Amino acid sequence: MTGTGAGVVIIGAGHAGGTAAALLRQYGFSGPITLVGEEPIAPYQRPPLSKAWLKGEADADTLALKPESFYAEHDIVLRLSTRAVALDRAAKAVTLEGGQRLPYETLILAMGARANRLNVPGAGLAGVQVLRSAADAEALKLALSPGKRLVVVGGGYIGLEAAASGRALGAEVVVIEALPRILARSSCQALSDFFTSYHRARGVGVELGARIERFEGEGGHVTGVRLGDGRVIACDIVVVGIGIAPNEELAKDAGLDCANGVIVDEAARTSDPAVYAIGDVTHRPLPLYARSHRLESVSNALEQARQAASAIAGRPPPPHEVTWNWSDQYDLKLQLAGIALDSDDLLVRGDPAAAKFAVFHLRGQPPVIRAVEAVNAPAEFMAGRQLIGAQKPIDRRKLADPTVSMKEVAAG
Ligand code: FAD
Repeated sequence: MTGTGAGVVIIGAGHAGGTAAALLRQYGFSGPITLVGEEPIAPYQRPPLSKAWLKGEADADTLALKPESFYAEHDIVLRLSTRAVALDRAAKAVTLEGGQRLPYETLILAMGARANRLNVPGAGLAGVQVLRSAADAEALKLALSPGKRLVVVGGGYIGLEAAASGRALGAEVVVIEALPRILARSSCQALSDFFTSYHRARGVGVELGARIERFEGEGGHVTGVRLGDGRVIACDIVVVGIGIAPNEELAKDAGLDCANGVIVDEAARTSDPAVYAIGDVTHRPLPLYARSHRLESVSNALEQARQAASAIAGRPPPPHEVTWNWSDQYDLKLQLAGIALDSDDLLVRGDPAAAKFAVFHLRGQPPVIRAVEAVNAPAEFMAGRQLIGAQKPIDRRKLADPTVSMKEVAAG
């Protein structure tokens, strides 16, 4: 299909929006494409912000999704530092900050998510920040150096990556987690225990079940974190990593169905057939798990960009994918596939003490794999991901035995 008239407008020039624009051209869509983003830089990858980039091991060019010249070369109008403020679905137009109206034939919402802030006294002090954008990462990088004291609020993946990167830069680091274990929202106890020990062994203080009463400061800059038990952890900088919230307000105000994200179908269509939504901002079906969920991953952003671009360009829908994610901390490569929901059995393959193992989330008898969390175990991750997609029953005894190859496990 070729587009005509107002063409496709994409709101949000992040991983999902940037990918959708490129895919539309790759799939032969020849109508106008306008990519609107409020950040001042062209679409970039966020994962390195807490990993290689923070440690100074990657430069701005490696962050970029596409070279700067790509957009003009492919006739994609890139409007940076431009915020969309309203959506008029009846007139098929987006209003930009400043009042300009941008007509569309098809709209893709790709506004992503924003980092949650901690609502306690002192949260506005200089030196208390989140880690979502390149600007956030730049501020953190400038603040971290040997001897600096970093407090990370929240023991999720981004917080733990910031902690590991902080240690690599010579900072003193304390992670403060409100729940009794880190990674509680996304991972199993075995993984939480492993990462807690790994961080502690590398000099990171990990405070579990800790309530933050306030941030203390001097001269407008943070100097410490006061806990509910009265202790004050002195610090120079705080990174708050306590989850994200979808930027769904524009869609909600325009009457699109939303519920912790813009609700979409398997083709990334919203409740308005002229409007698609992709990436972190969506609440999407997960056919494999017979439910809807809001995912926060690059694999989700890419899959939904493919779904929307295929539908708009008139191509057959792409195959369903098993969602996956990763985290790099120290010398650990964690790879996750599937979602740790609905399992009734956990199986650890390999040796956590050797920092090479995988936790399989199983369900039923004979069991199928619902999710895998693999630490320095790429074969387990790859075979696990395939087996999740196939929902093929496996032999539990073989899976438990690391001398049996994953190829053999998969063969049944
Ligand atoms: P985003 O990349 O957030 O892009 C949305 C864009 O829309 C933003 O630029 C935003 O400013 C813009 N926008 C919002 N509202 C408007 C508006 N009204 N008008 C104009 N523009 C607007 N995922 C993994 O799979 N693996 C990882 O290891 C991993 N590590 C991560 C590390 C960090 C530090 C962070 C922050 C994220 C990480 N993620 C990781 C998550 C991954 O980056 C996101 O899932 C992905 O960026 C989602 O893409 P998106 O396009 O939906 O959202």
